[in-house]
Amino acid sequence: MDFSLSSDHQMAINLTRDFARKEVAPVIREAERQQQMPDFILPEMAKLGLLGICFPARYGGQGMDYLSLGLISEELEAVDSTLRVVISVHVGLNSMALLQWGTEEQKQRFLMPQARGEKIACFGLTEPGAGSDVTGIRSTARRQGGDYVLNGEKMWISLATRAHHALVVARTNPEAADPHEGLSAFIIELDQPGVSRGDIHGKLGVRSGSTGWLAFQDVRVPAENRLGEEGEGFKIAMSCLDNGRYTVAAGATGLIRACLDASLRYARERTAFGREIGKFQLIQQKIAFMVQSYEAARLLYFRAGWLKNNGRRNTRETSLAKWYATDAAFQAAAEAVQIHGAYGYSDEYDVERYLRNAKGEMIYEGTSEIHQLMQAGYALGYRVDTPLRKELPPYDPDFWQAIA
Ligand SMILES: Cc1cc2nc3c(=O)[nH]c(=O)nc-3n(C[C@H](O)[C@H](O)[C@H](O)COP(=O)(O)OP(=O)(O)OC[C@H]3O[C@@H](n4cnc5c(N)ncnc54)[C@H](O)[C@@H]3O)c2cc1C
Repeated sequence: MDFSLSSDHQMAINLTRDFARKEVAPVIREAERQQQMPDFILPEMAKLGLLGICFPARYGGQGMDYLSLGLISEELEAVDSTLRVVISVHVGLNSMALLQWGTEEQKQRFLMPQARGEKIACFGLTEPGAGSDVTGIRSTARRQGGDYVLNGEKMWISLATRAHHALVVARTNPEAADPHEGLSAFIIELDQPGVSRGDIHGKLGVRSGSTGWLAFQDVRVPAENRLGEEGEGFKIAMSCLDNGRYTVAAGATGLIRACLDASLRYARERTAFGREIGKFQLIQQKIAFMVQSYEAARLLYFRAGWLKNNGRRNTRETSLAKWYATDAAFQAAAEAVQIHGAYGYSDEYDVERYLRNAKGEMIYEGTSEIHQLMQAGYALGYRVDTPLRKELPPYDPDFWQAIA
């Protein structure tokens, strides 16, 4: 296998790193205290092309491959998780689903402005009473002539109050014998009667990110806004997670790197017992663990990116990458706080934020427990992926870079 990065990959890394370090790092602590996403972040990410990084130019994207999506996720989260969350939701969970499942008309109408960053997109799967168990979804979309009428509530939705479009999963057939088959996916334009939304405050982490709720009361959704066939909502939602989880895995890899970098700096400058603390073997052990987990997490997401580029199913590999990287990021952050002693326990240093943010990653896009069940299921042969009606298209540079 060729692990080298192209000059385009390196350019995407440099551009993202520059933005995150120069523009976001200096303001992030204050944004956390205010629990507000700074207003410049989404427009700036749009301007840099990050919101359309891996989409064909004909759909408003940058024409780059899926590995680039992982690389920018790593760079963004090496500075702050909220930046990577934007990518996970807008690109991974929503726009990539339009590329995979959308009709040509849906790609023109919704993917194009999203890839250009003119419209922001979110993903509404979770409800107050249904998280890991998607079959517990109670939102309904009832067919009425050429429309569906949507009712229900979505909870813990990243970018809920910033987004123009939401990809929402609702029950279209309450009678379906298999509850998975009674779900359908819809593209909802949020600026319309019957939609209300708000932010959730008081979160442990991603405090400067936007996390909220969406409520739908008799919202009329034209049938042409249904993504995929009626009854395909569960499969579509799981395919969205294959893409969102990939960005979480890559982002968590960046978080491990941030923990390592902060720990290296502090271990060299802090002294105790007449020596810099980096000379103590117990500190070295923590640092060695961070080096190990960073390299392993990176290889796991590289493999998932490679599979995506080649149009190969990657649910198993992406789940493993996400589970491993997020658990390792939490452990790395806990050790980074420990290395910083009392200073690590205050927001004078970044590591306390890393720890709070890392915990969330073990919960969203499949909890660590769900990924363990998946991995055991694959290993035991209880779980087998069957081909989807529409797979994520493989990266084809000619198609991706051509202007239609
Ligand atoms: C910051 C943040 C952002 C989010 N953004 C979004 C978003 O944009 N869109 C969206 O749709 N959702 C979003 N979520 C919701 C997230 O995806 C859910 O929280 C997650 O799927 C877990 O669901 P839950 O919280 O309902 O926990 P539950 O499913 O109720 O689980 C509670 C506990 O039980 C465990 N558990 C559940 N089932 C099993 C089992 N079978 N075996 C063993 N243990 C089990 C879980 O692992 C967990 O420890 C976000 C959440 C957070 C915190």
